[in-house]
Amino acid sequence: MPTDAPELTYDDASAPFFEGAARGELMLQFCESCEGYMWPVKYRCLHCFAPTVVWRAASGRATLYSLSVVHQAHPRFPGPYVLATVATREGVRFNASLVGENAASTPIGSELVAVFDHTEKPFTVPRFRRVS
Ligand SMILES: [Zn+2]
Repeated sequence: MPTDAPELTYDDASAPFFEGAARGELMLQFCESCEGYMWPVKYRCLHCFAPTVVWRAASGRATLYSLSVVHQAHPRFPGPYVLATVATREGVRFNASLVGENAASTPIGSELVAVFDHTEKPFTVPRFRRVS
């Protein structure tokens, strides 16, 4: 790996997301005022702007909204890999890798579940695979 590759890290604001992944939980921010979930990480609610944002363990279930196969080489992310936009049961869309056999052929709308590879370095990130 080239020495000029940026070091992967996360900040204090997103730490609960990555600490949850280390435990095998998909964590999302939740607004206690309007009961909406949100992504990306914010200090105030995206829906009602209230400062009552907390972290909650999400279901880990989602449907496939879209996918693309990334072939562009990157020092930290050797391709090809499948990048998906998933729609969680909590109503949040975000990007994650889609893994599993024939991941690139997964039909849009497929049921997905979050999976966690705890051998990843330097930290675990949620990925999704199709529910069979
Ligand atoms: Zn809100």
